[in-house]
Amino acid sequence: MAVKKIVKYPAEILEQPCKPVTVFDNKLKKLLNDMYDTMIEFDGVGLAAPQIGVDLQIAVVDIGDESGTIELINPEILAATGEQTGVEGCLSFPGLYGEVSRAFYVKVKAQDRKGKSFKIEAEDYLARAIQHEIDHLHGVLFTSKVSKYIDEKELEEAGN
Ligand SMILES: [Zn+2]
Repeated sequence: MAVKKIVKYPAEILEQPCKPVTVFDNKLKKLLNDMYDTMIEFDGVGLAAPQIGVDLQIAVVDIGDESGTIELINPEILAATGEQTGVEGCLSFPGLYGEVSRAFYVKVKAQDRKGKSFKIEAEDYLARAIQHEIDHLHGVLFTSKVSKYIDEKELEEAGN
């Protein structure tokens, strides 16, 4: 178990495109395991590699449902349809929450930790989490998409 330090905004690595992963070795496995441990430790539903200071196209998502932990390496959105608006936060912006509109459904192509290609379809909250993390890999932060900031207190009162 290795919990990494979260890179907080502002940091250059959070706003630049990440490099594709080309080597699928034990180091990558360790990185994925560390990302998972870090996401769980800080109660996140997703984590992108730049958030622990690694500029590679890797994200992990786990919204705590039956989908389990999804590891996305070199992910690419193949299709995005519909629309949803909901509150998002980000481990790199502690205490900051805002409403973001995203596609309701996405189809994503990615590679797993062994380098094998797969496709995944997601909707609703899982689709939101996946889009948020893939944005990170392109240096795009949720704050650039927030339509309205939500007070943390308001959020607690709303029962989220
Ligand atoms: Zn984030």
